Amino acid sequence: MRSGGALVPTPVPGVHLSTGAFESVVHGLAAALGTLEPDGVQRLRTPPVIAREIIEKVGYHRNFPHLLGRVYTRTSTGTPIESDLVLLPAGCYCVYPLFADTALAATTERSVEATCFRQEADAEVGRLRSFRMRELVRLGTAENCLGWRDDRLAAAQQMLADMGLRTESAVAGDPFFGSGGRMMRALQQERKLKIELLAEVGPGQTQAVASGNYHVDQFGRLFAITGPDGAVAHTACLALGYERLALALLHRHGPDPSRWPEHVRKLLTLERP
Ligand code: ATP
Ligand code: ZN
Ligand code: MG
Repeated sequence: MRSGGALVPTPVPGVHLSTGAFESVVHGLAAALGTLEPDGVQRLRTPPVIAREIIEKVGYHRNFPHLLGRVYTRTSTGTPIESDLVLLPAGCYCVYPLFADTALAATTERSVEATCFRQEADAEVGRLRSFRMRELVRLGTAENCLGWRDDRLAAAQQMLADMGLRTESAVAGDPFFGSGGRMMRALQQERKLKIELLAEVGPGQTQAVASGNYHVDQFGRLFAITGPDGAVAHTACLALGYERLALALLHRHGPDPSRWPEHVRKLLTLERP
């Protein structure tokens, strides 16, 4: 019997092994998501770690201390220390530092594929602690970042519809830590800074398969990046979760990708069985 495109659970919640069939869907998604990028965009692949300094600079350790995975080790003499690395929580944090202290001559984009870690408290279908995302990241002006986010979200929604996935778009907020965090989340929602595309990833289970974020000039200020208009750069990102998208496709079309509709297989460049 074929094992299908499943994720194989391990004894720890939110950590899975993926089957070859699952990975073929992820590879297909990676190729398909390329159609959302501008021609010739620089593609980057991250390691699963990032400098702790960067994560502290963007305030992630204050805003999401409950999600951050830290790396502890010992010195050569055996003294326990925290290392200069943390586990990467999202792809776009690798991109902003590349432009630190620079003036952008033009609106700039990068496409980054990241292995991420978050110490999630729950482990329902589609909520992993180690997962992968593709992010399109844009650095530019106030005018061309917000519009870009909405345009890319619409393009992603259309692409997913072409793959047979029905998604719903909704204003969302991040789970900022603590009581002050609730205010930050409310403000984020009020300003519609984060919009998610939600899809069914399992029976009765909906998850965000994509999120579009407009950061205003937060990262431009933190990293001293000037936009093409001479003002502090504005930034936006569109993040798509590979495992959630693969789970949504498996839920929609069945456990065996070789039996999926031909047009879906074509979009995912899956070879004929
Ligand atoms: P959620 O609200 O479900 O926790 P999120 O708002 O934390 O999602 P983002 O921080 O915007 O998600 O991350 C970008 C994308 O990465 C999401 O749209 C989703 O597709 C994916 N993603 C986020 N957290 C997880 C996770 N724990 N497991 C699998 N994929 C995830
Ligand atoms: Zn991002
Ligand atoms: Mg989350």
